[in-house]
Amino acid sequence: MSANVLFTVGPVQMYPDSLEVGAQPLPYFRTAEFSKVVLGCEKGLLELARAPAGSRCAFLTMSGTGAMEACVLNAFGPDDRLLVVNGGSFGHRFVEICEALGIPHDEVVLAPGTALGEADLARFDLKRYTGLLINAHETSTGVLYDLPLVSRLCRQAGLVLVVDAISAFLCDPIAMADWGIDFLITSSQKALALGPGLSLVMVSPRGQERLAGRKVRSVYMNLATHLNDGARGQTPFTPAVGVILQLEARLAVLQREGDIDHHCRVAGAKAAYFRDLLGGLPLKLFSSRPSNALTSLTPTGSKAAYAVFLELKDRFGLVVTPNGGPLSETVFRVGHMGNLQNEHYERLVKAMKEVLS
Ligand SMILES: *Cc1c(COP(=O)(O)O)cnc(C)c1O
Repeated sequence: MSANVLFTVGPVQMYPDSLEVGAQPLPYFRTAEFSKVVLGCEKGLLELARAPAGSRCAFLTMSGTGAMEACVLNAFGPDDRLLVVNGGSFGHRFVEICEALGIPHDEVVLAPGTALGEADLARFDLKRYTGLLINAHETSTGVLYDLPLVSRLCRQAGLVLVVDAISAFLCDPIAMADWGIDFLITSSQKALALGPGLSLVMVSPRGQERLAGRKVRSVYMNLATHLNDGARGQTPFTPAVGVILQLEARLAVLQREGDIDHHCRVAGAKAAYFRDLLGGLPLKLFSSRPSNALTSLTPTGSKAAYAVFLELKDRFGLVVTPNGGPLSETVFRVGHMGNLQNEHYERLVKAMKEVLS
């Protein structure tokens, strides 16, 4: 098991320094020392997200979906109307959340693999909505959405903008201040390459105004409570202490290495290196606007995508990401997040040549 190489979209290949931190005994967390760790992480994350001054970050002990639900639950109610971009299973998840919470919504439905264009949004009278929910990168298909376009239209119509950047963060450019993002979500198990369990919700000053004074039908997921306690570096409930300590160490490395543009360039270079190796293989790119976080591929020969995943895992210990649902036979994905180097991609492509021949 342990020798497997993960080309997955989370958990991903971890870095040795994160593993080392994970092996240490956990400290008690209601202390000034731990508060300092949390405050330092908040500062580092907001910097990477290019958040506007006065932004805050909530540390939620839950997977990414929990953070998506927390944003919708805290910022909106039955009096709102949301527009949801749905181009795959993560867009669909926002729709399910709106349905579960009884929040009126409409969907911008995109065919899997296709990009979002201005015409897709022009069909809606944006002034009728209070907020827009979008995944920066629809991880199920590998499509990176045009956030500057979405941001411009949301700003014109005065919409609250919620961006699930869970798989885009550190891979594709995100500029919270420039793009007027009010809620930006990411999670520990994607490009941060940590264990799962910690999700981060970055909230702009306008997003914080939105939260103020709202009645929230949840104790655990109350973002205002999280931000209030977070002001002194604490969380209302026991956090994923170990993952936060790994985050502290990871952020220190990321800060040493460079700014967000640097990290996106590194992810882009890995993606480009891998895609260049694919020439001659019976595969085509599935996404019309690929993210740097992963490459989604459709086999054009006789072997189905899910069989390719199984064979690469079982014969070679190389774990690509299978698709679920209707795309399971046609699409598999190769991740570019975490501790993967060019030689890993060389190994993968060599194995793919055998599997696909
Ligand atoms: C991974 C991911 C999520 C979160 O999934 P969880 O399994 O709940 O952590 C949400 N949105 C996107 C775009 C993702 O890539």
